[in-house]
Amino acid sequence: MNEQVPVTQDAAIPAAKPVKAMPDAQIVKSVKHWTDRLFSFRVTRPASLRFRSGEFVMIGLMGDPDPKTGKQKPLLRAYSIASPSWDEELEFYSIKVQDGPLTSKLQHIQPGDELILRPKPVGTLVHDALLPGKRVYFFATGTGIAPFASLIRDPETYEKFDEVILTHTCREVAELEYGRQLVESLEEDPLIGEMIEGKLKYYPTTTREESPVMGRITEHLKSGELFERLGVPPLNPETDRAMICGSMGLNKDITAILEESGMREGANSEPKEFVVEKAFVG
Ligand SMILES: Cc1cc2nc3c(=O)[nH]c(=O)nc-3n(C[C@H](O)[C@H](O)[C@H](O)COP(=O)(O)OP(=O)(O)OC[C@H]3O[C@@H](n4cnc5c(N)ncnc54)[C@H](O)[C@@H]3O)c2cc1C
Repeated sequence: MNEQVPVTQDAAIPAAKPVKAMPDAQIVKSVKHWTDRLFSFRVTRPASLRFRSGEFVMIGLMGDPDPKTGKQKPLLRAYSIASPSWDEELEFYSIKVQDGPLTSKLQHIQPGDELILRPKPVGTLVHDALLPGKRVYFFATGTGIAPFASLIRDPETYEKFDEVILTHTCREVAELEYGRQLVESLEEDPLIGEMIEGKLKYYPTTTREESPVMGRITEHLKSGELFERLGVPPLNPETDRAMICGSMGLNKDITAILEESGMREGANSEPKEFVVEKAFVG
């Protein structure tokens, strides 16, 4: 196994806060780089912002000035809130797309910088969109773990379900590190630790770099390897619920597997056995 240590840079919070100049501006409090393609950051939370764990908001920066008029427009993208609804700050987990309009700039933010955040949370990966059940699966690939980073920190998740299974699939081991450290920190957390004990099961897999459990999650579901390793029965629409957040392809493939087992896709207005959200468009 490649014992690759992720590149991390913790940046401290500066003493002086700049005056907010942009509309809906929040202040960046900390930034952590996990790999050359992934980073997370925390920002101030607008006092009026209420959201349900698992929802997303539009965030961004001011775009470049128009060459003719000199005017700047906000450049906004959808981002899942990775922190739980009780947290006093907001956390985000982001990709760095080298030529991406937003993330080519966003990856350079520093504590004290301003970030635009439209305080209108929405999304389908919420408890309200699922019928009551015994066990909930959170299926994530890449940055698709962000909404689940929120949900696994929310006490409601453990009040509603006896078992919480988080699967996270990435190409390389270092790309799993954000989720791995989060799960580990929860186990040691004096408050949440007790609540999740014996309930939260973490199932990381890699598709390219060697790791203890390798392969696409769809293959692990089809072969039954996932159920065997976790010691749980196969999917059952009576007891099991699921949320999916990954690429369009993954979402489609897992949806097909869940539907084959008799589970139905729900929505906020019509809770059923599972819900799906794209981790990105493309
Ligand atoms: C509901 C929703 C929630 C989202 N939540 C997050 C989130 O929590 N974290 C996050 O990093 N992104 C998230 N995204 C994607 C995000 O909105 C942007 O696409 C991303 O920040 C890149 O912005 P960009 O302007 O740099 O490039 P874009 O022009 O938006 O994207 C360029 C290309 O990069 C690829 N890409 C974009 N985002 C990702 C990604 N996350 N992982 C892998 N490839 C990607 C796609 O192929 C895309 O066509 C979410 C998207 C949706 C629809």
